[in-house]
Amino acid sequence: MSHLRFKVVDEAFNRKADPVEIPAERPQEYYGKNVFNRQKMFEYLPADTFEALINAIDNKEALPREVADSVADGMKQWAIDMGARHYTHWFQPLTETTAEKHDGFVEHDGKGGVIEKFNGKLLVQQEPDASSFPNGGIRNTFEARGYSAWDISSPAFIMGNTLCIPTIFISYTGESLDYKTPLLRALNSVDKAATAVARYFDPEVRHVRSYLGWEQEYFLVDEALYNARPDLMLTGRTLMGHESAKNQQLEDHYFGAIPSRVEAFMLDLEIECHRLGIPAKTRHNEVAPNQFELAPIFEETNLANDHNLLLMSLIAEVARRHHFRVLLHEKPFAGINGSGKHNNWSLGTDRGVLLFAPGKDSRQNLQFITFVVNVMAAVHRHNGLLKASIASATNAHRLGANEAPPAIISIFTGSQLADILERIESSSNSELSDLASREGLRLNVSQIPEIMLDNTDRNRTSPFAFTGNRFEFRAVGSSANCASAMIALNSAVADQLIDFRKKVDARVEAGETLRNALLEEIRILIRQSRPIHFDGNGYSDEWKAEAEKRGLDCETSVPKIFDAYLRPESIRMFAEAGVFSKVELEARNEVKWEMYTKKVQIEARVLGDLAINHVLPVAIRYQSILLDNVSKIKALFPDGQAAEMSETEMDTIVSISGHCKVIKQEVDAMVEARRQANRIESEREKAIAYHDTVVPCMDVIRYHIDKLELMVDNEMWPLPKYRELLFIR
Ligand code: ADP
Ligand code: MG
Repeated sequence: MSHLRFKVVDEAFNRKADPVEIPAERPQEYYGKNVFNRQKMFEYLPADTFEALINAIDNKEALPREVADSVADGMKQWAIDMGARHYTHWFQPLTETTAEKHDGFVEHDGKGGVIEKFNGKLLVQQEPDASSFPNGGIRNTFEARGYSAWDISSPAFIMGNTLCIPTIFISYTGESLDYKTPLLRALNSVDKAATAVARYFDPEVRHVRSYLGWEQEYFLVDEALYNARPDLMLTGRTLMGHESAKNQQLEDHYFGAIPSRVEAFMLDLEIECHRLGIPAKTRHNEVAPNQFELAPIFEETNLANDHNLLLMSLIAEVARRHHFRVLLHEKPFAGINGSGKHNNWSLGTDRGVLLFAPGKDSRQNLQFITFVVNVMAAVHRHNGLLKASIASATNAHRLGANEAPPAIISIFTGSQLADILERIESSSNSELSDLASREGLRLNVSQIPEIMLDNTDRNRTSPFAFTGNRFEFRAVGSSANCASAMIALNSAVADQLIDFRKKVDARVEAGETLRNALLEEIRILIRQSRPIHFDGNGYSDEWKAEAEKRGLDCETSVPKIFDAYLRPESIRMFAEAGVFSKVELEARNEVKWEMYTKKVQIEARVLGDLAINHVLPVAIRYQSILLDNVSKIKALFPDGQAAEMSETEMDTIVSISGHCKVIKQEVDAMVEARRQANRIESEREKAIAYHDTVVPCMDVIRYHIDKLELMVDNEMWPLPKYRELLFIR
């Protein structure tokens, strides 16, 4: 009998909210307390060091060695004053989590004791012996050195008792082995390209920054229930479980009252975020039961991404404190919404102008249209690549289902922007003369701000939506490192802007006015990128057919989606943007394929074990009880009556045998499919084999297990059911 299940359900349902230590101060007083930010730098560094460091950060220059030594001294002193004993380079290998190797500050003092030391060399560069990070063959084991180096644009912080220094991670030969290095390169590239175009409108612009505001969705599960689900523990999602009779149909969870246990957890998390300088702002219940969201105020993309990664570690830790486990998986439960991480993204000049926000006059509006249209063109040209940037074994379960965007990239503009584009496209330059006038009458361009601020046009099925002053890349998965999407998007837009600038310049050199040149090129782009614009229902079958006709990438097999990284157009684009060499792209795809295979492999093993060791024995035991009952009936009653009396049991007995048989067959088939796939040398082909031959077995096995769950005596069922997992009291 399943005593364990009832015990853990009881434990979970009776748990009370954990107390939160609320600081006596207001957030503005403890915000950034654990961060070596500019204020701390000013306090702890000599004046000339401070100035040199700020100069290097603001102008993206290398930090001179003497300055690094002096920064290290100050940083160490601050860390020790904060109680830190260790330091670590904190980096982002290709595993979707962060890595750290701690070293103490202690060194021999030469007199038999120790002193606490930290110098510029240790600050600026480390050589983690990290031969077992994924590297796609770039780093041979005989040359196992990787280098990590401080990214001065992201401030050091203290977690626990450790000073964490955000770093890039590269190989001995200079190839990137992480997400941060290419992200910084992509941001650099979009800065240059967008600055060149922004100068058409404001010659004083010196830099364009990329901004990211992520919305992190997640599920919470009580720890006792979590511990009783090996699939959740090992894969982050439930591999089986029949739908709960009640889940999200009543739409009563979205924005609903937050349960007190969860609210305590959220408060605790926010306080920790604020101490670490993560500007957490918004929290609410999401659509699915037990699903929640946290969103900060947007920041410069590199910093925002570091903060998201930090949040992903923090949220797991704080959840444990409150006897929860957090699930960042994109689809922990079948049949209800999955979790995404909408990437709200924009570009803004160092003169304080957001380039996707309609302006106050026609010049700013022409700038707005220029940038929006270039983004549309970039997303159109690289739609397959952008999909590849968000594709993963885990996100594959989410895309296309329950309010998640479909696996085809398109842009939702809303009707107002669509009207404007339409009018620009169908008018001649002289008809558009109003655009250049102060009122911008005919186009109503000058009125865009008022109209657009009321941005009620929402389309949840769109993977990439214009939302008033930014774009929202909604296809990004909740467990992903946002850098992957941000690298592809910023590089693609940089590539497009470079091309645009060249073409406009050529027209101007040939004697056209700048305004005419811009309008001509904008018109061409609107026309060319028309296929990417889609405001309709992304779930419909008509859209799939239509998208195919429009030439958009409709591939749904994740291992094949990754091919987009190695298309000649992508290789050229990344090389020109200085983001990835061909070697790096090839290595990274090896890692992606390998990762895909491993994730499916682990799930398949766990499911096989659970099916054979947990589910079949219980189903058979229950069947035996029924059989026992039938034979006793037969012994005691006349044949005809006995047959009638045991009809229900007999049906169930036969059904159970049927389901058990298929489960056993499919588990065997799945093991064989894995065996075959494992023999394949090429990582790509192996991943495709896992996708084509292993995943389908898993779906069949689950289907039959879920049927058994409805049949077998509730008291005997070994694993907590959806209805128990999904409703926090
Ligand atoms: P919603 O769920 O309605 O889309 P949220 O408030 O949950 O909105 O999240 C919106 C996110 O977008 C926040 O992180 C916010 O700071 C961010 N954001 C707002 N404006 C911009 C912008 N111009 N660029 C980037 N991010 C932005
Ligand atoms: Mg949103």
